[in-house]
Amino acid sequence: MEKKYLLTPGPTPVPEEIQAEMAKPIIHHRTPQYREIFSQANDKLKKIFKTERDILTFTSSGTGAMEASVVNTLSKGDKAIVVEGGKFGERFSEICRAYGVNVVPVDVEWGNAPDPAVIKGLLEKNKDAKAVFMNLCETSTGTVYDVKGIAEVVNKTDAILVVDAISGLGADDLKTDEWNVDVVAGGSQKGLMIPPGLAFLTLSDKAWAMAAKSDLPNYYFNIKKYRKNLEKSDVPYTPALTLTIGLNKALSIMESEGFDNFIRRHRQDAEFVRRSVENMGLDLFSKSPSYAVTAVKVPHGADGAALIKAMKAKGVTFAGGQASLKGKIFRIAHMGGIKRDDLEHALSLLKDVLNEMKVSQ
Ligand SMILES: *Cc1c(COP(=O)(O)O)cnc(C)c1O
Repeated sequence: MEKKYLLTPGPTPVPEEIQAEMAKPIIHHRTPQYREIFSQANDKLKKIFKTERDILTFTSSGTGAMEASVVNTLSKGDKAIVVEGGKFGERFSEICRAYGVNVVPVDVEWGNAPDPAVIKGLLEKNKDAKAVFMNLCETSTGTVYDVKGIAEVVNKTDAILVVDAISGLGADDLKTDEWNVDVVAGGSQKGLMIPPGLAFLTLSDKAWAMAAKSDLPNYYFNIKKYRKNLEKSDVPYTPALTLTIGLNKALSIMESEGFDNFIRRHRQDAEFVRRSVENMGLDLFSKSPSYAVTAVKVPHGADGAALIKAMKAKGVTFAGGQASLKGKIFRIAHMGGIKRDDLEHALSLLKDVLNEMKVSQ
């Protein structure tokens, strides 16, 4: 079978050794054997989150962890500041509104990163705000945000900082404990080299204290139940154990490369992609480009959908733009199991496609 190149910002390719691990006969989850695997995976996952705290695992896509961060920490009528610089920031606002939380949106032009000074000003104006929600990488625009700078601002207030690191984890800089980030959400199908289906959440003591008082309705995502079960390396409901087995394998692979080396390699790949597209005469879309995914402007006069279609015909899947960016950008992911060879191959085909489309370079 001809190799296909899935270079989208989730799902990302799953290396063969991980696929093989997940193809083994299924085991039961209420067993010492599974608890050991789950416990090993959790210990290694902390190295990626750069935290010593517990990390809760849900069987859901990443959005489940985003929802869990809202429904467990806030109460009806609470006010939350939400950075809206793309699709995924907007998702936090949608979740908040669905549960009766009042949203103060931070309107960030797509492709730009929010200025910590703006968040500071909003917190001063909204002293009753209980939380600030933001992304690490806003995947829809390929933009990395200044979590460190914003954490410094939020840490001086009573509000908590909630960061959706679902796509940035494993590529963009995130130091959960050192920067004192209250809540971090992660997902399985982006930088962690496994298929979709797991979501992760870690909380600071400040966030757990808010959770003790939260009154928003929840059941499946009740984090207190997950924390209680974690004491015996267990989860309240049947876990997607096959994925946890895959995760444990993926993290072992990262560990043998070195977690920091793994992250560094993805940065070098990101820089390689940026350089290569710029050498083709293309422009980056983001003013603060992420190390997880690169958003590239569709060249003037070219048809964005046709470009993606032409790449697909050659076996390479890029993601297009979402919402207002449809047809205006395409996105090349370089996170997780995506390798330099895959990127070199895709970029050389992109050059051919641009020539075929007679885009002036
Ligand atoms: C992929 C992604 C999500 C989660 O999406 P799911 O489809 O629920 O896994 C959330 N935030 C960001 C920034 C993402 O890239």
